[in-house]
Amino acid sequence: MTNINDKIVLITGASSGIGEATARELAAAGAKLFIGARRSERLQALAEELGESIAWRTLDVTDAADFDAFAYAAEERFGRIDALVNNAGVMPLSPLASLKREEWKRMIDVNIHGVLNGIAAVLPRFVAQKDGHVVNVASVGAHLVLPTAAVYCGTKYAVWAITEGLRQEHDEIRSTIISPGVTATELGNDISDSTVAAALKDWRQKSLTPDAIARAIRYALEQPTGVDINEVIVRPTAAG
Ligand code: NDP
Repeated sequence: MTNINDKIVLITGASSGIGEATARELAAAGAKLFIGARRSERLQALAEELGESIAWRTLDVTDAADFDAFAYAAEERFGRIDALVNNAGVMPLSPLASLKREEWKRMIDVNIHGVLNGIAAVLPRFVAQKDGHVVNVASVGAHLVLPTAAVYCGTKYAVWAITEGLRQEHDEIRSTIISPGVTATELGNDISDSTVAAALKDWRQKSLTPDAIARAIRYALEQPTGVDINEVIVRPTAAG
C-alpha cells in the first residue's frame, strides 16, 4: 500500500451516500479532496467538517463545461489532479412498459454522460503527466439485469465497458471499476413507481453501509503506481 496523503482526488456525488462516505474515508487517509454535486449546502457542511484539505464546488456532471470548470478549479486550488472518482448516479427504476422516457434519459445523462464528462475533464492532464487514476462507480447491475432495472443496468454495463476501454487505451493511467451491491443510501428515493419503491425497501433490508464501498475505493487508490485494481465487487454477505 502507498500513502495517499499527498494525493489530490476529485469525487463526484459527494453530497450523500457512497460519495460522502468516500470523502470521509479519503480525508481520514490524509488525501486532499475536491468534492462536487448539485446540493451545495451539503458539500459546504461536509467540507467544513472535514477541514482545510477539502474544497468543494457545485457540479452538474451532465454539463461538460461545468465538469471542465470543476477540474480547472481543483487544479487551481491544489496545483494538480491525481485521481477522479466518478461516483454520481441516479436510479429511478421502472418497468420498460411504463415508458418513463424522461427517467431513462436522466439515467443515461447522469450515469453515462456524467462519467464520460469526467473522463474528458481529466484525461488530457493524466496523459500529459503520464499518471492518473480514474475510479468509476458501476454496480453489480453491470453484471446482471433485474426486472425494472433494464435502463439502469444498461447504464452500468456502459460504465463497465467505458472503464475497461480506458484501461486498454492507456498504459500509464489506472482505471478501476467499483461495483457495489445493495447499499443503504439515498439512491432510488426518487423512484416514481410505488410498487418498485416498495420492492427496493425490501432489498434494502440486507444492505451494506456506504463506508464498505468507500474502503474499496481507498484500497484501489492506495496501490502503488504500477498496480491497477481493475474491478472490486462488494456485496453484503447476506446477498447470497
Ligand atoms: P445517493 O443517491 O446517496 O448519491 C448519489 C449522488 O449522486 C448524490 O451525491 C447526488 O448529489 C449525485 N448526483 C446525482 N445527479 C447528479 C448530477 N447531475 N450532477 C452531480 N451529482 C449528481 O446514492 P449512492 O451513494 O448509492 O450512489 C453513488 C453511486 O453508487 C451511483 O453511481 C450508484 O449508481 C452506485 N451504486 C449504488 C448502489 C446502492 O445500492 N446504493 C449499488 C450499486 C451502485 P446531488 O443530488 O446533490 O447532485
